[in-house]
Amino acid sequence: MPRGFVAVTRSGSTEETAMHDHRKLGRELDLFDSDPLIGAGLPYWLPNGAAVRHALEEYIREAERRAGYRHVHSPVLAKRELYEISGHWAHYRDDMFPAMELGGEQFVLRPSLCPHHALIYRSREHSYRELPLRIAELGGMFRSELSGVLGGLTRVRAIQLNDAHVFCTLEQAADEARAALELIDRAYRVMGIRAARYRLSLPGPGGKYVSDPAMWRRAGALLTEVLDAIGAPYEAEEGEAAFYGPKIDVQIADGSGRESTLSTVQVDLYQPRQFDLHYIGPDGAAHRPVMVHRSIIGSVERAVAHLIDTHGGAFPGWLAPVQVVVLPVSDDELPDAQALVRRCVEQGLRAECAAPDRGSLSARVRAARLVPYQAVIGPKEAVDERVALRLRDGRRIDPLPVSEAVDRIAALVGRNSLELWEE
Ligand SMILES: [Zn+2]
Repeated sequence: MPRGFVAVTRSGSTEETAMHDHRKLGRELDLFDSDPLIGAGLPYWLPNGAAVRHALEEYIREAERRAGYRHVHSPVLAKRELYEISGHWAHYRDDMFPAMELGGEQFVLRPSLCPHHALIYRSREHSYRELPLRIAELGGMFRSELSGVLGGLTRVRAIQLNDAHVFCTLEQAADEARAALELIDRAYRVMGIRAARYRLSLPGPGGKYVSDPAMWRRAGALLTEVLDAIGAPYEAEEGEAAFYGPKIDVQIADGSGRESTLSTVQVDLYQPRQFDLHYIGPDGAAHRPVMVHRSIIGSVERAVAHLIDTHGGAFPGWLAPVQVVVLPVSDDELPDAQALVRRCVEQGLRAECAAPDRGSLSARVRAARLVPYQAVIGPKEAVDERVALRLRDGRRIDPLPVSEAVDRIAALVGRNSLELWEE
């Protein structure tokens, strides 16, 4: 287990005291901030935070690409009619921004990506041979949170969601849901985070849910089967489903044990019917597909908040805002230090030089304590084209040739390793 990893528990324990407040650290580490002129719940990302976020986005796009997803882009708003068809207008309007008038039409900021993806699916004919058809997008969506509950990255009004919709047959839906849970498991491992628990989210009383008992039973049975098959313990909870279908929610917990949903897998038999989606089966007739909605890392905002909470700013190497800091002992080694920074950058690493004008070597080492790799260059190393690495966890690596050091760091970062070094 790497240093900085904190196990997530729901009840009080000493481990929790090591969790961090992501809002405080976000400011201290120059990750994100907000401005009253932009508004509450609308944080902006500084270069350090944007670097973490982009690393996460690149990871998930690549993981999805390998898992057979195709990425699309769609606009963050649409006509009100779209959400009347999808059911959001009737069941979810309280969480949506009010409609905007333009040229006699009403537009709304989207509360989810599903309706756009349903239209993208519907825009072309599909044969059963194309299924499962997996459409993914890291896309913007909006939620009209009240300002009282806003703060930091966990409850925001503008959300970037790692979303996807799998259009498939009913028989394929369980396999797709299980494959999504595997992607979630793998992502959590490389992020160094842990699920607090799985929740089977079912409908509750009240008018929040689409009324169709047979449909709910069918979709619920499918997700139960998936959870039983993977053997993960879970708790069923009423009143937590999406309005259109049940969900498997992967719950995370913050330092005070407060739970939230990060990842989700949902089976939806409702929206395919609302949008009259179909595919041509082997019999030549039109059949209705199922929509599996899934998010692997949830919203980018909440994922990064949880990474900050868990790691206290000591991110895994591949996520660190700065991965390598180069420390020349004196000004004499400055050109070599700058050359090493360029070399790291060319290899795709995020690197910077902490020159002697920033203070004594020990002060610069201290300032860079969250950086995974510190490369010290003294007179001897400069002459030999070698570098002495200090790892964030306190280990010191014997001086090694500059090219070898950079290659080895780039290789570890490239495979999203939680380990900072391998002998
Ligand atoms: Zn969806």
